[in-house]
Amino acid sequence: MSDLKSDPTGTTTAGEPELSGVDIDLVDVVKRYPGQKKAAVDGLSLHIPAGEIVMFVGPSGCGKTTSLKMINRLIEPTSGSIRIDGKDIHGQDDDELRRHIGYVIQGGSLFPHMTVTQNIALVPGLLGWDRRRTAERVDELLELVGLDPDRYRSRYPRELSGGQQQRVGVARGLAADPPVILMDEPFGAVDPITRQRLQDELLSIQEELRKTIVCVTHDFDEAVKLGDRILILTEGAKIAQYDTPEAILANPADRFVADFVGAGAALKQLTLSRVSEVELSHRTLVAVGDPAAGAMRAAQSAGDSYVVVLDDRRRPIDWLWTKDLAELDRVPGPAEGTDLVTLDRRATLNDALDTMLTSSHGCAVVTGRRDEYLGVVDFQAVLDRIQETAQPDEVPS
Ligand code: ADP
Ligand code: MG
Repeated sequence: MSDLKSDPTGTTTAGEPELSGVDIDLVDVVKRYPGQKKAAVDGLSLHIPAGEIVMFVGPSGCGKTTSLKMINRLIEPTSGSIRIDGKDIHGQDDDELRRHIGYVIQGGSLFPHMTVTQNIALVPGLLGWDRRRTAERVDELLELVGLDPDRYRSRYPRELSGGQQQRVGVARGLAADPPVILMDEPFGAVDPITRQRLQDELLSIQEELRKTIVCVTHDFDEAVKLGDRILILTEGAKIAQYDTPEAILANPADRFVADFVGAGAALKQLTLSRVSEVELSHRTLVAVGDPAAGAMRAAQSAGDSYVVVLDDRRRPIDWLWTKDLAELDRVPGPAEGTDLVTLDRRATLNDALDTMLTSSHGCAVVTGRRDEYLGVVDFQAVLDRIQETAQPDEVPS
């Protein structure tokens, strides 16, 4: 996240969360699988700065997963060295190493015979945490990934949707508060709306925790959205380009990168702009149980055709047409099955357009930290922002 760049001295400025990630360095790392003519990873050297999200992208089979798994020694390099926080991981105890590295893979890979709590508590259990500390941590993590602890902590994986399982997988990866998290196509198996939410969730978690996160994806848009830096690899894990999303979009290193970035690099700029940069508008806010007549008067005098319903923690849960309030006594809770579509302020303008196109209101409620209401974004506001950012450089020299 560009506004949370790590300070090279390792100190943090006032107000910024403390950096908890550590540097990772790969030096001339080679992995040759038995019986393979070419090395899967052919001399990869890479510095991953503490507290950043680095995205690995590249064509299938180019060595992304192999490179990632060498960092927690699920795969042993043939040669070369890997240092985490300055310490060579070769010779470190595998189990000990993995307790300090979160690992999240596609689908969450939860143990089906264990509850959500038991799945998340695996590493804390290995670390010998007592029951109370573990239980508190599980609830805290469920909140963090957007699952209500009371509802979900005792469920089994089969009782969760794919997106919820993936959230639990992320919670498990974070459980012991590891400085490093490795993710391999973590959101590859969920539908686009859920994927967008999980991405936003990850960004807001990272805003609080500032881990070092290495994440493999095949989705370049995802890399642009999540990455502080993107590593583009070709066969043999050869580096085609390693830079910020902005720099790669503006200046692809060669034809390969340009092709990979794809047509419409200009449109991809939409993925660089966030909802937080758009001017939000406001609607009348009401709470469940408020007198409907008062709510309607307030909405009418504000000229709002609908009102936004918040829960007791200021999280938006529903919206109601102002005219429908006339038939009601009190503002009702959301009908069963209502799942208000919201946009995290971290969402990209691309996400925002997607969301609004599928919403009947042509606009979306924007939320911030811990899903709190921030405002409403509509088409016009997004278009205005696109036009602002797309202004060609007209200043004569
Ligand atoms: P990616 O994640 O980028 O798709 P991988 O790291 O999985 O790529 O694979 C890199 C190369 O190594 C591929 O050619 C793949 O076929 C090969 N490979 C991966 N795992 C093994 C293995 N266990 N044994 C032999 N070859 C493998
Ligand atoms: Mg892979």
